[in-house]
Amino acid sequence: MLIKTDRDTILDYLEDSSGIKGGFVDEVVFPESERELISFLKELGIKKTPVTISGGKTGVTGGAVPFGGVLISTESLNRKLEVCKDKGIAKVSCNVRLKEIEEAALKEGFMYPVDPTEKDAFIGGNIATNASGAKSFRFGSTRDYVTSLRAVLADGDMLWIKRGEHICNRGNTFCISTQAGRSLNFKLPSYKMPAIKNAAGYFVKEKMDLIDLFIGQEGTLGIIIEAEIRLIKSPKNIIGILSFFESEEGSLSFSDRLRELSHGELHEKDITPISIEFFDMRSIEMLRQEYKHIPPNASAAIFFELMIDKDADYDMLGRYERMLKDFSSDIDKSWCGMDAKTKERLREFRHKLPVLVNEQVKRNGFPKVGTDIAVPKEYFRIMYSFYKDSLENFGISYVIFGHIGDCHLHLNLLPKNEEEFLRAKELYLKFIDKAVSLGGTISAEHGIGKLKHAYLERMYSKEHVLQMARLKKVFDQNCILNMDNIFPKEYLKQV
Ligand SMILES: Cc1cc2nc3c(=O)[nH]c(=O)nc-3n(C[C@H](O)[C@H](O)[C@H](O)COP(=O)(O)OP(=O)(O)OC[C@H]3O[C@@H](n4cnc5c(N)ncnc54)[C@H](O)[C@@H]3O)c2cc1C
Repeated sequence: MLIKTDRDTILDYLEDSSGIKGGFVDEVVFPESERELISFLKELGIKKTPVTISGGKTGVTGGAVPFGGVLISTESLNRKLEVCKDKGIAKVSCNVRLKEIEEAALKEGFMYPVDPTEKDAFIGGNIATNASGAKSFRFGSTRDYVTSLRAVLADGDMLWIKRGEHICNRGNTFCISTQAGRSLNFKLPSYKMPAIKNAAGYFVKEKMDLIDLFIGQEGTLGIIIEAEIRLIKSPKNIIGILSFFESEEGSLSFSDRLRELSHGELHEKDITPISIEFFDMRSIEMLRQEYKHIPPNASAAIFFELMIDKDADYDMLGRYERMLKDFSSDIDKSWCGMDAKTKERLREFRHKLPVLVNEQVKRNGFPKVGTDIAVPKEYFRIMYSFYKDSLENFGISYVIFGHIGDCHLHLNLLPKNEEEFLRAKELYLKFIDKAVSLGGTISAEHGIGKLKHAYLERMYSKEHVLQMARLKKVFDQNCILNMDNIFPKEYLKQV
């Protein structure tokens, strides 16, 4: 097992993609096998040394950034990536990158449809944060694809959880046995999660499956080392259409219509969108720096994808052409991705915006203040108007973009000085409170990590967050694993 204590290696592991600063750690450790990981954890448990788990380091809430103790990177663990065609699943070790899974699945005629944007993330990190992506609109989040997982607990004991084998008892209690035969009895926290895309806090639901508690636990309950994930058959084609609108209102109404189509009754021959993404006026302005041929009158854009299973499906595209006209857009001025080359251009376009935002953040010299809020669809327009009204005359640059199909937009405020930064954070709190009052979530896909503790308490309550701390202690009695993720570590002393 490689143990690194030199400054250069350590520096590499003090950051993820959150921009969180001030991390520190004594050593970075690379176990090469499950056995090494287990015996090392046993040692740490005895000494009560805190340990932070690091995967692909693409997280945006600081979950993998250590503040003391030891950092364990999963990079060097035994690798496994096996697509089982007959079962339509992939068996993966935690350190396989998303792009490798997608490529391996495709070669065998399958697709892993969750599609989070960041393909360098590890599947272990994706499971730990319940990652989702544009196609989650149709296909759901990581949670919907994990059929089994193996996790090492903080004391080196293990759990092998297969979906369907451990369902919670009446009274929301579980009674399970670890691999070493230890009994774990516990009651789930009593909060009710919003029934929308959500990655805030432990997953809790009546009659829930134990596996769902381990998906989205942000490494606080155990280290996921292996999983089986469900794949779906690759469709014949997935085409993407980026349509421009002269007004934001036109684009919002068009996306409402697409959403209704997907959730409503449709003729069986029809095809409906699998993703619906939004770019507001300011996003379009930012993208114009690189894409001079964006139509000059465009004030907003919607990108949507349609899944083609058979040639006859192409005949259905006329419906979307007509619909675009109804909303004062035009298929002839839309950018369509029908083949590999044009699809790649559209992918680059969509990914360009976060890159441009990050460049702007660097020039500004102040971190962005970004939301990950989703609300129930019946309240989406109220939330959107709240954003716009609050930002009118606010005097801080911003862009709004993202997963409008799931009523989940990323609003990035881009402050240029300390005063703007503080005002942006204040406004962020107003957005959080508004979303919560509408039954929404403060984190639809990025998790809580170390950055969003305070907001989690506004979504649930202090008592509920203490219940989460109590639950962690069942799995991690020595309180060493991924401390300060999801809730402040001080809460563990209060329960
Ligand atoms: C440009 C960009 C685009 C992004 N787009 C998306 C997106 O579309 N959707 C989305 O959901 N997220 C997105 N993210 C965020 C990020 O990619 C996800 O949160 C991802 O799941 C993190 O995986 P990782 O392997 O990089 O994990 P890390 O950043 O290394 O860790 C994330 C958390 O998981 C824990 N962890 C890691 N591995 C394990 C393990 N094996 N067992 C237990 N805990 C573990 C860590 O301790 C940490 O708390 C994006 C990030 C960037 C930079």
